[in-house]
Amino acid sequence: EQKDPEQKMFHDTVSEVFSSIVPVLEVHPEYRENKILERMVEPERTVSFRVVWQDDKGEVQVNRGYRVQMSSAMGPYKGGLRFHPSVTLDVLKFLAFEQVYKNALTGLPIGGAKGGSDFDPHGRSDNEVMHFCQSFMTELCRHIGPNVDVPAGDIGVGGREIGYLFGQYKRIRDSYDAGVLTGKRVDYWGSLARTEATGYGLLYFVKNMLDAKGIDLAGKTIVVSGSGNVATYAIEKAQEYGAKVVTCSDSNGYIYDPEGIDLAAVKEIKQVRRGRIKEYVETHPQAEYHEGCRGVWTVKCDIALPCATQGEIDLASAKALVANGVTAVGEGANMPSSLDAIAYFQQQKVLFAPAKAANAGGVAVSALEMAQNSERLQWTFEEVDGRLKAIMKNIYESARKNAEKYADPDDLVAGANITAFVRVADVMLAQGLV
Ligand code: NDP
Repeated sequence: EQKDPEQKMFHDTVSEVFSSIVPVLEVHPEYRENKILERMVEPERTVSFRVVWQDDKGEVQVNRGYRVQMSSAMGPYKGGLRFHPSVTLDVLKFLAFEQVYKNALTGLPIGGAKGGSDFDPHGRSDNEVMHFCQSFMTELCRHIGPNVDVPAGDIGVGGREIGYLFGQYKRIRDSYDAGVLTGKRVDYWGSLARTEATGYGLLYFVKNMLDAKGIDLAGKTIVVSGSGNVATYAIEKAQEYGAKVVTCSDSNGYIYDPEGIDLAAVKEIKQVRRGRIKEYVETHPQAEYHEGCRGVWTVKCDIALPCATQGEIDLASAKALVANGVTAVGEGANMPSSLDAIAYFQQQKVLFAPAKAANAGGVAVSALEMAQNSERLQWTFEEVDGRLKAIMKNIYESARKNAEKYADPDDLVAGANITAFVRVADVMLAQGLV
């Protein structure tokens, strides 16, 4: 904290991870002796650059671009690009730090990074987004490559942006390196099942967690927030498992359907028409629409799956869920629960699946996209989905094993942090003073 006192989010996330690993340091003094913690908080490389482009009116625009390459211990740097006005070095450092451990949990050969820009794509034409992406990649291409650093999408960076970024990389480097970016469209060597991976992976993780307690997902009532990529495929898999999902939401409000969410209608509204979730009640008169997002956590359920955004479950929402008898919470979004909400769930013996482990399915399938690109082959949906299922089981089991060894056996927050930390720390020791 003495070095960059203004980077509050980064310091908070470092303290959260490092506080879990105190019992490990007691039995592994070599981590302290070799200054593993001090090394882990210093990115291997950070680049910050000027992005100049021209808008549709001919005006010159200047943005700031970044790439934080936090750790290459386990493989090429890997992590998304975020285009949003809130992007700062602090935000990207905290996301890159988290990414190192999430990626290590997948058991696949990927290091950790994060990047982006304070550019806001909202309200910009396709032409403007393309010009921005081309200028951004003109600098970024010096720092990435299929064996160096493999960016992907994040907030504000979807299939369209990945396409423009890939096109510019290919043009400058004069090389068809399909594996330089992931999240590509399937027709130019993206992976089948990448779209579904985070939502499906969340359900695979939660099912493992419930199975271990002899709890059946079938017949359970589930509250989901969000109606974007993660929420949609979490609902799909939950329904396949025979659970009843009664809510979903967007940034305006939530719907409650006592008969169970009609997912085809949600996809039609959000994916096809790009409409608002409240339109659902026009064709489903039994359902209710409520303005505002927090109310969704007052709906009675057995399982809650926050899949919208960070900070959506505060202590009051956690208390409302527990008062209504929730038995399990699985985080689909990144950091949806506040630290005091997590502590409350754990104190109340609610089974809790932390984001770092439970939503790692997305990046896991991105690593499988890299593998397919290296092979110059494309696997079937079933092959990718089968591997995803096995990866999520493995993440659950390793987190559980370390929770049993070092903490409370049900504390998967500590279990996931410890598993990831030990993997990265041991590899750093093996690779010497780098
Ligand atoms: P999308 O943009 O597809 O969907 C986000 C959903 O959340 C939308 O329904 C959106 O509503 C809603 N939302 C946005 N802001 C708020 C808010 N302040 N309050 C309530 N609802 C809100 O994103 P994804 O589904 O891809 O991502 C969701 C979360 O999961 C993020 O935290 C992301 O970082 C994380 N994640 C995603 C992965 C992936 O593979 N996609 C992988 C790992 C984590 P609206 O339609 O109104 O915008």
